[in-house]
Order: sequence, then structure tokens, then C-alpha cells
Amino acid sequence: MDSTTATCVACRANRGAIVAPGGALYDDGLWRLEHTFEPIPMVGWLVLKPPRHVESLADLTADEAAALGPLLQRITQAMRETLAPAKVYAALFAESVAHLHIHLIPRAVDLPEERRGPDVFALLSAAGHSGQNQGDPNEARRVALAIKARLANMN
Ligand SMILES: [Zn+2]
Repeated sequence: MDSTTATCVACRANRGAIVAPGGALYDDGLWRLEHTFEPIPMVGWLVLKPPRHVESLADLTADEAAALGPLLQRITQAMRETLAPAKVYAALFAESVAHLHIHLIPRAVDLPEERRGPDVFALLSAAGHSGQNQGDPNEARRVALAIKARLANMN
């Protein structure tokens, strides 16, 4: 293990050093899906990442790239069936955590106007800065496992 993967939060989670609610919801060796870990920004806020330490879409292998589109479609469908959100947001920065990860965010019908679009990330900042869950961890686990079950039934 090199120093990057030793300290990378995403790599540590991939090794099981940090466990998200519900654990790994999907992992085919190319992509791994987890709920955000505590402090939780929102129930159902998921993160999709490659198990290996990659920092840009430009560095994906052909297999990783080919798998991504169909997988995003299936995950989004599973989130829609589980949570009935108004929208599922997808965002990729890989900034504060360099390991490539795609945020998949179920924007609830009743999410306040000022938290929609890019402003939804205020919930992630609030959780990170305060250390306080912005959503119930037990509910996050229940939702995560429901999404995991739906994904398993789609294959
Ligand atoms: Zn990493």
C-alpha cells in the first residue's frame, strides 16, 4: 500500500476501516456503492467509487468506463423505487477527497428551495463541520439495505 492509499478516506472505507450504514451496497470489483458514512448529510445520499485509487474519469480503465453508465442507470432506478425523490442528483468533484467518487443524492420532493441544486452540498458541509448527522443513521441503514436489495434483484 502506498502512502496515498494508506491515508485516502475512500481507500480506507474500501478496506473496511470505515463502515457506511448498510456496508457495501454493490461491489463488482470495478465500482463500489456505499451510503455516505457518519456524520450523514442526508438519508439515501450514496457514493459510487472505484475500489482502486483513481483521481479522474480520464484515468478509468476501459472496463471501468464501460460499466459506469449502465450502473448509474440501475442505481438511480433503485433510488427512485426506494425513496421516490423528485430528482436524483449526480455530482463529481474528487476535490476534498481526491479518490474519484460520484455523489448520488435523492432530492426529496419537500427539500427546501434553498437546499436544492448545488446548495444541497451545504448539508454535507454542515454534517462535516458539526460532526452531527443531518439524517437518522438507522433510517440511512434501512434505506441503504433496501437499495442494496433492489440492485441485487436487477441483475
Ligand atoms: Zn483512494
